[in-house]
Amino acid sequence: MSFQRATIAAQAAGQINHATGGVVGPLETSTTFVRDGNYAPPPSGDIYRRDDNVTVREAETVIAALEGGAGATLFPSGLAAMAALMRAAPDGPIFLQRHAYYGSEGLATRLFGDAGRLILFDGDDMETLATMAAVERPSLILAETPSNPFLTVVPIATIAEIARGVGATLAIDSTAATPILTRPLSLGADIVLHSATKALNGHSDVLAGVLVTGETVSPLYERARAGRSIDGAVPSPFDAWQLTRGMRTVHLRVAAASQSALHVASVLEAHDGVEVVNYPGLPSHPQHSVAAAQMEGGFGGLLSFHVVGGSAAALAMVARLKLIHPATSLGGVESLIEHRASIEPESRGIPPGLLRLSVGIEAVGDLIDDLLGALDGLHHKAA
Ligand code: PLP
Repeated sequence: MSFQRATIAAQAAGQINHATGGVVGPLETSTTFVRDGNYAPPPSGDIYRRDDNVTVREAETVIAALEGGAGATLFPSGLAAMAALMRAAPDGPIFLQRHAYYGSEGLATRLFGDAGRLILFDGDDMETLATMAAVERPSLILAETPSNPFLTVVPIATIAEIARGVGATLAIDSTAATPILTRPLSLGADIVLHSATKALNGHSDVLAGVLVTGETVSPLYERARAGRSIDGAVPSPFDAWQLTRGMRTVHLRVAAASQSALHVASVLEAHDGVEVVNYPGLPSHPQHSVAAAQMEGGFGGLLSFHVVGGSAAALAMVARLKLIHPATSLGGVESLIEHRASIEPESRGIPPGLLRLSVGIEAVGDLIDDLLGALDGLHHKAA
């Protein structure tokens, strides 16, 4: 029987604690496991925690089922998952979307920059990408949709066709979309990556990342999975256990945050203290029709906007907020705002007035009052 994502999430893909009958899976912390008189491993098959762990497997099973994938591998952070993926890439150019998460760009630059293997492409220009790919023949194409912090939406089916045409593996960082809103594997991607630190867990108390493979298991995924044990980049069972607990409500949290984010984005767009709002759910978003076709059930809780008056006005607005926390990260139940030019390297060219807002699941009226209170004050000052 196949179940819908809400059912998979709520019931942790049907997993229970088989030893006790508990409806919550076990939190297994042992690093090593006793063999029997014939020196055979225990029925779990586990020998040493660096290789595998039942609590980690439980989280992986939920994520693989949510994505409709054949398997998932959990890492200690989103960037650890990204590093495992990039390091497993075969020879050849690596194509990375320009303005993907700055940590991904920094990592790719460190791994491939000196060798001249890193090529950046624009996620909103598939024609140029196709031409570049035909010439350069990349081994790996890495895209992020919606992207952080500009919310560019990449048409996954189109980029998958381009990747297939040149024999490249396509990996999609779907952190901002979550498996609730987009399933990249069903659109032709080979591998999906999430920072599970964000909306998958949703409570800002777990650091984790994950790679998911499609039904045709990607050789690149298999190499990255093998690399986890060899490199010792292993997630903690406690984080995995908390993640499974967090994911039980991911469908409800993502739906609520998406609904509120659309409302917040519309209000901000109408305010004369705001220049541009980047949110795929707004009809004004340049890839709104792509987003509407490839995302289902909403457009996510992440948006960004430019405050009139640049850096000083944006920072002043943040300082005036009373409810929304000025903090990095996204996808939590609490709303967070961040002045990206203050934290990203100058080379990224982040506009000085840009604020990134991760909308949580608070009452949307309270969020809007907070934002308008902070903006209106600024606006009056400027007038
Ligand atoms: N991918 C995206 C889109 C992100 O936003 C982040 C972190 O913000 C990462 C990957 C890295 O994840 P982590 O912080 O779990 O290492």
